[in-house]
Amino acid sequence: MRPFHYIRVFFLLLLFAFLAARRFYGLHWAWAVVLLFVYVSLLALGAIYIRWNFFLKSFNKGANQKCIALTFDDGPGQETAAILNILKAQNVPAAFFCIGKNASTNVDLLKRIDAEGHLAGNHSYNHGFNFDWQSANAMAAEMRKTNEAIAIAIGKTPKLFRPPYGVTNPNLAKAVGLTYMRSIGWSLRSFDTKVKDPQVLLNRVLSKLQGGDIILLHDTKAITREILTDLIINARKKGFTFVRIDKMLSIDAYA
Ligand SMILES: [Zn+2]
Repeated sequence: MRPFHYIRVFFLLLLFAFLAARRFYGLHWAWAVVLLFVYVSLLALGAIYIRWNFFLKSFNKGANQKCIALTFDDGPGQETAAILNILKAQNVPAAFFCIGKNASTNVDLLKRIDAEGHLAGNHSYNHGFNFDWQSANAMAAEMRKTNEAIAIAIGKTPKLFRPPYGVTNPNLAKAVGLTYMRSIGWSLRSFDTKVKDPQVLLNRVLSKLQGGDIILLHDTKAITREILTDLIINARKKGFTFVRIDKMLSIDAYA
């Protein structure tokens, strides 16, 4: 049972209480609108904040206070090769949550990701704005298509899925179940898709950094590549060790 299930029952009970109060005490109907507004707001927040584990359980943080994990979404893309070079130079393992259509056209980059000790995960096939409005079966089909694209490249089928935009809902919870995958969230969002100043981005990540953090980055952004070496060096100075998320969370990366 996830928070969503409890809240659904709780609001159903409130609805009955409202109907009784309206019947016996003439409670104003506007209270029903208030009730509905609070319910819909809670659902919306639960969908946006993957860390709430509102609709499904996601792995959002590790327990080890010395370890942190880098994750790169939306590639393989134009910055992936340069980011792989930096990770190799710094001897840092990472996870790449690949968009299926990019995986199928960047087989060599995927092979490099795997050969150099990084993890390849699933980040949907199209990453469309409508991803979360699809049926559970349609989402599951996208996830399987991405797993196939990655398996063709590296011979392994991913078990870890990062929801596009970090948005979750009941259909996605079903799709994750249908595909026997595990949902991976994050504890530290870098905002590298929004921040324009490299120094601001670097300071933002370093100032928030805590043990067990799963850091959300994107291997499609030049700014991410620009700060990566400094991020690694300074995080190490703070005493953190970089580990792959599957090791940090003690879960299997592949089926
Ligand atoms: Zn994404």
